[in-house]
Amino acid sequence: MTQPVLQRQLFGPGPSNPYPEATAALGLPLLGHLDPAFIARMDRVCDSLRTLWGTSNARTLPLSATGSAGMEAAFVNTINPGDVAVIAVNGLFGERMCEVASRVGAEVVRVDHEYGTPIDAQRVAEAHPNPTVIAGVHAETSTGVLSDIAALGAIKGDALLITDAVTSIGGMPVLADEWGIDVGYAGTQKCIGVAPGLAPFTISDRAFERRVQKPQSWYLDLGLLGGYTTGSTGGGRTYHHTAPVAMVASLEAGLERILSEGLDTVTTRHQAAGTALQNGLQEMGLELFAAEGHRLPQLTTVKVPQSVDSAKVRGYLLERFNIEIGGGVGQYANTVWRIGLMGPNANPSSVALLLAALKEAID
Ligand code: PLP
Repeated sequence: MTQPVLQRQLFGPGPSNPYPEATAALGLPLLGHLDPAFIARMDRVCDSLRTLWGTSNARTLPLSATGSAGMEAAFVNTINPGDVAVIAVNGLFGERMCEVASRVGAEVVRVDHEYGTPIDAQRVAEAHPNPTVIAGVHAETSTGVLSDIAALGAIKGDALLITDAVTSIGGMPVLADEWGIDVGYAGTQKCIGVAPGLAPFTISDRAFERRVQKPQSWYLDLGLLGGYTTGSTGGGRTYHHTAPVAMVASLEAGLERILSEGLDTVTTRHQAAGTALQNGLQEMGLELFAAEGHRLPQLTTVKVPQSVDSAKVRGYLLERFNIEIGGGVGQYANTVWRIGLMGPNANPSSVALLLAALKEAID
């Protein structure tokens, strides 16, 4: 029996609703992954990703997997067993970095921060005299906090700086070259406004030259992936794995949409939507979780009022309005909601819908 098509408003921490152009591109006729037309498309995608990342890195490409694979690629290619990785932890994704780094044999030096607060670059600098890598999350989706990556770049010394930009890219400026990011990874399903499935990735020449020669992962070995995209190595495209051609077509359409709107305008749109939502929530008497002055516009964290059952409200929003919002993570699973306004959802009507629906669900 055919199931009804559900049209949800994805206002959680991701995936978000894609841009319509990105969804439409999934239906384009499939190209072979070595077809010259596909290779030209991949080149255009890598160029647009360089613009989003604020980099001229030759090795900027969409890895064929989700954001977590970007994280794995970052560590597996930079860490030899015993190398020191200083990792700023201010949420779940910083925690995950520690786990990934320890699995590739790093001596992990954690710099723990209270959840809801940004990374303190000075504390990171003082954690170890000569780490191989320093790592931090730009936009912590688990807590709704923005951290200053340029400040980490300023203290990194000889270390390589790994940055998670999964929730920031496409919604706010990410300036890899200016900030000193050596290795950056992201995901398609948040502010880029494309379905989950690719990990936009960038690595500087400096980091590539220092890379692990035979990393544990064959699939994510950046040395082998050099020929996967043309342009990055100057050579022709060679087979490494079958490119997810439909996802790359969708990403191209999403990136075209963002770049034709203009990065500054996209940033302003996310900022305006987030500010309006956060003001509206506070006017309703709700309290925000992330520290003031460090709040992400695209992902708002709200304290669940004591008198309210978190899961019940989320269930009500889904059943009655087809609206998805997220719960918290870890110890905040039932005491925090996470509300995303990413990609096409960063607009005034989403804000109005969310505020009205949430008010009804709470009352
Ligand atoms: N890093 C951050 C900040 C995230 O928000 C996420 C996903 O929500 C990830 C990493 C992992 O990405 P994925 O779930 O696409 O593997």
